[in-house]
Amino acid sequence: MRIFDIAIIGGGVIGSAIAYELSKFRLDIIVIEKEGDVASGTSKANSGVIHSGINSPPGSQKAKFCVEGNQLIQQLAKTLGFSYKKVGKYVIAKTQNEAKELKNLFKNGKKNNVVGLEIHQSSIINNKEPQVVCEEGLWVPSAGIVLPYEFTIILAENALINNVYFLFNTFVKNIKKNHDYFHIETSSNSIQSKLVINAAGLNCREIVSMFEKPDFQIYPCRGEYLVLDKKYSHLIQSMIYPIPDKEKGVLGIHLTPTIEGNILIGPSAEYIDDTTDKRTTKKMMNILFDEAKIILPDLPRNAVINCFSGIRCKLGSPNEGGWADYRIEESRTTKGLINILGIESPGLTSAPAIALHIVKMISNHIDLQRKQEFKILRKEKRFSELSLKERNNLIVKNPQWGRIICRCEHVSEAEVINALSNPLGSQSISSIKYRCRAGMGRCQGGFCLQHMVRILENEFNYDIKDIKLNKEGSYLFSGRTREHVHEK
Ligand SMILES: Cc1cc2nc3c(=O)[nH]c(=O)nc-3n(C[C@H](O)[C@H](O)[C@H](O)COP(=O)(O)OP(=O)(O)OC[C@H]3O[C@@H](n4cnc5c(N)ncnc54)[C@H](O)[C@@H]3O)c2cc1C
Repeated sequence: MRIFDIAIIGGGVIGSAIAYELSKFRLDIIVIEKEGDVASGTSKANSGVIHSGINSPPGSQKAKFCVEGNQLIQQLAKTLGFSYKKVGKYVIAKTQNEAKELKNLFKNGKKNNVVGLEIHQSSIINNKEPQVVCEEGLWVPSAGIVLPYEFTIILAENALINNVYFLFNTFVKNIKKNHDYFHIETSSNSIQSKLVINAAGLNCREIVSMFEKPDFQIYPCRGEYLVLDKKYSHLIQSMIYPIPDKEKGVLGIHLTPTIEGNILIGPSAEYIDDTTDKRTTKKMMNILFDEAKIILPDLPRNAVINCFSGIRCKLGSPNEGGWADYRIEESRTTKGLINILGIESPGLTSAPAIALHIVKMISNHIDLQRKQEFKILRKEKRFSELSLKERNNLIVKNPQWGRIICRCEHVSEAEVINALSNPLGSQSISSIKYRCRAGMGRCQGGFCLQHMVRILENEFNYDIKDIKLNKEGSYLFSGRTREHVHEK
């Protein structure tokens, strides 16, 4: 049986960033993910903000990894070609009382070495953000945005082309350590490895409890979002945040422009019992919309095209204010088990810095040797981002580039085929959506789903009954109605 040097449990942004950094060394690595693709958990359902580091207490791991991660992501975006925009953010005060809080945030940010902070009066803010109603604002120019799933996917794909093995639809059921090896029992097979990295996000406690009685709890906290039609992208240029909600240990309902031009409103903060309860609720949708209206009075209700939610992995209980620092540590009882616990926001931002920290921890166990050859796979530009000449050249070579199958997002048939030919081998409606945006526009798949199905059938020989939304078992169709009638 093949024995891996390192098994990473979880293909979220943390597991994928670690896999990417470790793939630079001569190691046998496996990532085990229970869903059908990377970025299937919290890493796909967040604000996509690359935070500056103004919020976390000085000296905390959150502050350190966030400030480092902010810089690392900018370098990574240049190397790997994923989308990144330094749009900056305003934390706004709506009253004079709130304005006092801005000064505290300013001081906190300075202590964390966040550069470029300035307090602006509303007249200055309105030059840039004419729609926003406020008294004063803290300008944070180093805050940026990414597409969180695109960032995670490109990290994982680069790890894969540098020989990291990804195992999807595989749930880690139990792990035991015998002598020098971990024996990982999964839903499909058994895997042996010298070290285990627990990057299981909301399930991190379950992994710890396979070895010892955990000395912590996870307090899942759901955040719901509204997604606005791109037509309203002009409403804000930068991110607009309220004064953070200290009672819940979250940043509050903010407005975030996305890379693709939609605006996100959210997230709410609701402590829940079940880490899988990702429902969106009418009550919360109304609250989100009303909060956004206070900042942007001209926002029309029909601007909303979709909603979603993500769940925070909190180590801090609501009774204690919800804040707790990250815990990234080797197990006290089981040598070689590295636990990454409570990676809530700014976890997306911190991922590359956490990954480098993990490499250091691994070097205490394994003599790390850099590979002579490390390959780079860059994210290709979307068809709609190319010049007319570039688009024409592609269409001349292959007419599938000229067939637009998602009208809202201008996605061509060739892009869907490329998305389905991804190196990670993930083939589902979601894997198309998160790689080329088909189905993410105003009609939310109303037009393009039939084309995605046709492409899966014709180009990839899928039987319609085997087409999945995302993971194993999430089948979308029970058969064809016409064939069914015909058979009768
Ligand atoms: C509402 C919200 C907004 C946020 N906004 C931001 C933001 O703007 N900026 C920012 O920096 N951070 C933000 N965050 C935080 C950020 O999204 C997370 O910190 C980050 O995504 C955590 O990544 P992860 O890899 O630890 O978890 P996940 O992405 O959840 O990955 C864990 C993976 O482990 C897998 N897994 C679990 N158990 C098992 C098992 N037994 N076997 C196999 N696989 C398993 C899961 O399927 C999952 O894919 C936000 C979070 C939320 C909820």
